[in-house]
Parts: sequence; structure tokens; C-alpha cells
Amino acid sequence: MENNKSFLWPQGILISLLALSASLSVGSMMLLKPNTSDAQSRQNISTNTNPITAKSGTRQRIEGLKATMLTTWQREAQVKGLSYAVSPRFQGAIIESAKLSQGQKVIALTFDDGPWPQTTAQILNILKENNIKGTFFVVGQNVKRYPDLVKQVIAEGHAIGNHTWHHWYHYMNPQAAAYEIDNTTNLIYQTTGVKTNLFRPPGGMMHNGVVAYARNSKYAIIMWSSDSVDYSVPTVPKLINNVFRLARPGGIVLMHDGGGNRARTVQALPEIIAGFRNQGYSFVTIPELLEMQDKDHKLIANKK
Ligand SMILES: [Zn+2]
Repeated sequence: MENNKSFLWPQGILISLLALSASLSVGSMMLLKPNTSDAQSRQNISTNTNPITAKSGTRQRIEGLKATMLTTWQREAQVKGLSYAVSPRFQGAIIESAKLSQGQKVIALTFDDGPWPQTTAQILNILKENNIKGTFFVVGQNVKRYPDLVKQVIAEGHAIGNHTWHHWYHYMNPQAAAYEIDNTTNLIYQTTGVKTNLFRPPGGMMHNGVVAYARNSKYAIIMWSSDSVDYSVPTVPKLINNVFRLARPGGIVLMHDGGGNRARTVQALPEIIAGFRNQGYSFVTIPELLEMQDKDHKLIANKK
């Protein structure tokens, strides 16, 4: 577990932390300088005159520190290409696979219902050993429970999507759907600095209100072309067979890192990866797949 910490504290953040703690002492001197145009400074000035509110000044500085860290995190995410915008072409679109005119042998591995104790970390390790980036459709309430795992997902270069807050199947009116989707996206953003516009409906339910809300909110609705059916806990060979039966270039594979016992998915994953590699596939994230599709469309459009 100790090792995981290094994922969560990339160099940039450490440096900015050092710089920030150094500037804190300078900052407290600057607080004495009146600056009536800045509400934040005005608040801080008053804290210096009162020992009780001085504590809240410290709290403010800690909040400021956290905000700066988050900003740094967001900048790093942007640099690493993790803060992605979906092309207008895909906003509100329902995507089961990419149709690439050159037939490029790429496949996107996706993992739903996490983050989850043990299995998410195990899957992350397998992906890392194989130098593969995947896409994780996370459930908001699990993000709240296991924020460090979500940070690890992002720190290790994977893409992330919204899979609602509760993973409910029943009908939801627009207010309920808004709660399910907006809260999850906001928490992902607060936790990792990544603003996702990928959405996958729980259970693939298309007509219970959440997809309608997501499409209105310009999310790309990411389905799949190859279902491992790992949620019904098949044997490992059956699970692997499920993945390859309908696998095709530009395809999206559905698996689960959370929501139950996913030991068989963990067991099957190395063989699934090896199988795709033997067939000449390379692995892409959903944003990468969409970008390929977008460029492909442009290519075709340019030819006309
Ligand atoms: Zn799910």
C-alpha cells in the first residue's frame, strides 16, 4: 500500500507543495497588507487581529492549499491528456464500437462498478504490467468510499467515465437522473481533477430516464460490443470466450472491477490481454477510440 502513495503524489504536486509551504510564511506577511479590492485578503486581515479567528485563518490557508493542489492536479491531468473533451460529433451519441475505415486493430477494455477493494487495485496492476490503459466507469458512491483508488486510476493514466451515483435500474425523473449523474461527475472532478463526459447507463438501461438526461447534458453514451458477462460469474474459460466471441476491431469490451466478487475477471484478464495481442490488437482508452473515430470521419469527409 505504501507504494501506491507515490502514484497519488506526482512530482509536480510535491514541488508545488514545497513551494506553497515556503510561500505560506511570506503569505502571512502579505496578509497584513491591506487590499480592499480582494475579499479573500480582507477576511485574512481580520483573522490576524483576533486569536480565535486566527484559527479559521489557518483553516482558510489549508483550504487554499487544497485548492492549489487540486489546480496542480488538474493541470497535470491536462498535460497528460486526461482532461478530455468529447468531439461535438459524439455529444449525446450512443456508441457501441468505433467503425474505423482502415480496420485498425484496436480494442478498448472497460471496467464498471468500481472502485472496489482489492479487485480494482489488482486490475490496475495487471494493466500496468502489460502497459495498457483502460477506461473505468465508476459509481459515485464508491468514489466517495474509495477516493484513493480513483486517484490511482487517474494517476496511472486510465480514462474515467460516469456510471451514476447509486447504480439504480428503476425509472428516474429528470431531477433524480440529474442527481445521479451530476453528483458523480462533480465528485470525480473534485477527487481527480478530471471532468468526464463519458456516460454508461447501469445495466445498459436505455429508457429509465438517466440516458435521456445524459444525452441532454451532452455526454457520449458508451455501450459495448463485447460483453464478458462476468457479472453472472461464469468460469474463467467461459468468460474469456465471451470476450472473444464478438470482439472486433474498434470494439469495446465490457468487464467489471467492482460491484461484487470479481476474482474471475482478475483471473481472466491476463489471458484476455495475451489473446488480443496474439491477434495483433493494441489497446486504447475510450477517449482515444473516439478520437480515432473522429479523425477517421474527418479523413473520409476530406476525401469527398
Ligand atoms: Zn454497472
